[in-house]
Amino acid sequence: MEISHIEHLGIAVKSLEVAVPLWEQMLGTKCYNIEEVADQKVKTAFLKVGQTKIELLEPTSEESTIAKFIENRGEGIHHIAFATSGTAKALKDAEAMGIRLIDQAPRNGAEGLRIGFVHPKSTLGVLTELCSTQD
Ligand code: ZN
Repeated sequence: MEISHIEHLGIAVKSLEVAVPLWEQMLGTKCYNIEEVADQKVKTAFLKVGQTKIELLEPTSEESTIAKFIENRGEGIHHIAFATSGTAKALKDAEAMGIRLIDQAPRNGAEGLRIGFVHPKSTLGVLTELCSTQD
């Protein structure tokens, strides 16, 4: 698996209205994109620090995994996303290492990325996303 850098950190928040100004002030930068990902029932807001993004995730439905995460664990760091050269291959490589996958195949994430999650039970509790601009 070829990983080039941490693409983003995902942070679960109850409200982008509260979280965006807080993180803009903390990081001294402006949120440059707000996007709804219907597939995951979330609204996302992005800020950039160097080449790494901060992805704030607000649930748009109680069915959203982000809503369930906040209910169980409160707001906070939800996942870490690594940029790979190709999501399908990265998932296949992870599986070959004995890592349990949540997504067997890439799906659409925010910012036009193709994403796939591996199971936190396989990564010592860290929900890990593999992503790429291509499959
Ligand atoms: Zn993400």
